[in-house]
Amino acid sequence: MAAIELVQVTQSFDKHVVIPNLNLTIEDGKFTVLVGPSGCGKTTLLRMIAGLDAQSSGKILIGGKDVTHVAPGQRGVAMVFQNYAIYPTMSVRDNIEFGLKNNKVPKAERTRLVESISETVGLRPYLDRKPSTLSGGQRQRVALARAMVKKPSVFLMDEPLSNLDAKLRVQMRIELIELHKKLGSTFVYVTHDQVEAMSMADTIVLMNHGQIQQEAAPETMYRQPSNLFAAQFIGVPPMNVGDVGADGAKFGFRPESGVLSAERTDAHYAVRGTIATREMLGSETIYQVKSGPHAFMIKSAEDRFSVDQDVWLGVQADHLYFFGADEKRIDPGDARFGAYMTALKRASS
Ligand code: ATP
Repeated sequence: MAAIELVQVTQSFDKHVVIPNLNLTIEDGKFTVLVGPSGCGKTTLLRMIAGLDAQSSGKILIGGKDVTHVAPGQRGVAMVFQNYAIYPTMSVRDNIEFGLKNNKVPKAERTRLVESISETVGLRPYLDRKPSTLSGGQRQRVALARAMVKKPSVFLMDEPLSNLDAKLRVQMRIELIELHKKLGSTFVYVTHDQVEAMSMADTIVLMNHGQIQQEAAPETMYRQPSNLFAAQFIGVPPMNVGDVGADGAKFGFRPESGVLSAERTDAHYAVRGTIATREMLGSETIYQVKSGPHAFMIKSAEDRFSVDQDVWLGVQADHLYFFGADEKRIDPGDARFGAYMTALKRASS
């Protein structure tokens, strides 16, 4: 087990700075998910931790030891990629055993390790099969097992589930959470999918343009986003945002906090609108409500409105968020919070 520290790490490619001066501590034994839009530098960060690329400047420590000049194989980390990197001509057993043979681990020990690890990832019945006869999820488990035999203190995973279909992805997410619990090692997982991040992480590290936007537990990131970017990246549909009408400030509310009704309610923010679209998803319905300059997404457990219908939209005061012109969330203790609340009440119909 090992914590990972990045101290003032910068990465540039051809003078183009991809990661400027990043400081991050990834806790020992935790499941940390690096999430952010395509190109924000997640893979770059993971490759530096693995030692596949050297950082331009700064220090990386694993388990308190500076690994800046330590080769990838000596860092005690294992990487699992999107493309499984398994050998198609070898059986599952040989694939898992391969690294052990290379490291001259004695035969009896190899057999014991392969059997115990294949049991952990549910591959025991498939040890003599070729990868081509396995499903995508089973192949991903072979890749995991290959990483596990090395008994790394850190697992680095780069979008390992993105080649799987939606149903299998959900199942593998649960398996990864269970695997993490069993192994107790440090997991660092890269994805651009915020649902994956929310469902698996102990800690989410949200990145944009090579910079950390917020580092928090999933529920904190959802309830107390540090800025507009975090508020709109996490959550489906994202947080609704509109202009307060003062100081360039914005207000926001989550789609499930908007309540639709035929008559006006006493909600703090109450506006008239028209249902523009309706998506019935089974247990919930997502409406798009056009109101003046705004198009708000509303998630409702009820499915009783239809397209083109005029409705009232209400949001209670304790479900409203405010963001300054600098896009940072304004704390309820801040003097501006009360002023913007009042402004919004006035903006209500
Ligand atoms: P994705 O989710 O699309 O994989 P990402 O967040 O993992 O994106 P990175 O792969 O880390 O993003 O890339 C970050 C930026 O660095 C991109 O603009 C990319 O083009 C650039 N980049 C990455 N590797 C190199 C390289 N070897 N040479 C030049 N530019 C690179």
